Amino acid sequence: MGKLDGRVVLVTGAARGQGEQEARLFVAEGARVVVADVLVEQGEALVKELGEEFGADVARFVRLDVGDEGDWAVAVAVAKDAFGKIDGLVNNAGILRFNELVNTPLAEFEQVVRVNMTGAFLGIRAVAPEIEAAGGGTIVNTSSYTGLTGMPLVGAYAATKHAVLGLTRVAAMELAGKGIRVNAVCPGAVDTAMTNPALLDPDADLTTSSAALEAYYRGLLPMGRIGRPEEVAALVLFLTCDDSSYITGQPFVVDGGWLAGVSPF
Ligand code: NAD
Repeated sequence: MGKLDGRVVLVTGAARGQGEQEARLFVAEGARVVVADVLVEQGEALVKELGEEFGADVARFVRLDVGDEGDWAVAVAVAKDAFGKIDGLVNNAGILRFNELVNTPLAEFEQVVRVNMTGAFLGIRAVAPEIEAAGGGTIVNTSSYTGLTGMPLVGAYAATKHAVLGLTRVAAMELAGKGIRVNAVCPGAVDTAMTNPALLDPDADLTTSSAALEAYYRGLLPMGRIGRPEEVAALVLFLTCDDSSYITGQPFVVDGGWLAGVSPF
């Protein structure tokens, strides 16, 4: 018995990083998963790998730019065609840009809003009616540590991650009567390409880049280490399965204690 037997979940930004681990864990727990991303080659490779391990009908890839309304209609159609329904959504796709607010070009600000905030809105709007038609289910939105507190140089990103929590709370209230629970995860620093771009460079020395990250976070975080994408996936699984059956509208922090406080020592 898997925790997601019989479920059909669409995960955005699932070609790599946290979304990839969520797709892997969900399939291992019995779900059928729609891997949605702009990274076609990586997304298709993941679906192929999952098919080889768990059976050909466990996963489908769809090219989805979360900021594009038309792409969402296609993604929903692909999911229903493949699996007959959708009863779960993980809005995971996101981008990060570093800049001081006063130096942030409007186009850069709007690009971050388009993916992180509009993408989550369009996802809820496109998929919630399908989840309702399927008899209920779950939505998990991906906020951040910076959805709950400030951090210099990530103004556009932090604004969108705060907004994702607002969307989560309103969606939870509007959709509870339709059998849909909506929660958010707030990861701290997680070892993916977003925080560790060396992971994208085939020539990079990953031992050195990971060791540098480890050393940096050892001093910063109570738990003394960066998080693993699998640790975020485990929380997203909890919020997607029946273990969280009485929980909706909440942000869940997974950050090694970062948000617990600032140590003066
Ligand atoms: P990542 O960069 O490895 O993965 C992000 C994924 O989103 C990629 O597969 C990318 O192709 C996809 N994506 C980007 N733009 C897209 C678009 N327009 N449409 C569809 N897919 C798109 O980084 P990650 O750490 O796995 O990030 C996953 C989520 O977690 C993001 O929302 C991110 O903001 C959030 N997050 C990450 C961290 C961290 O430290 N890594 C911390 C807090 C929150």
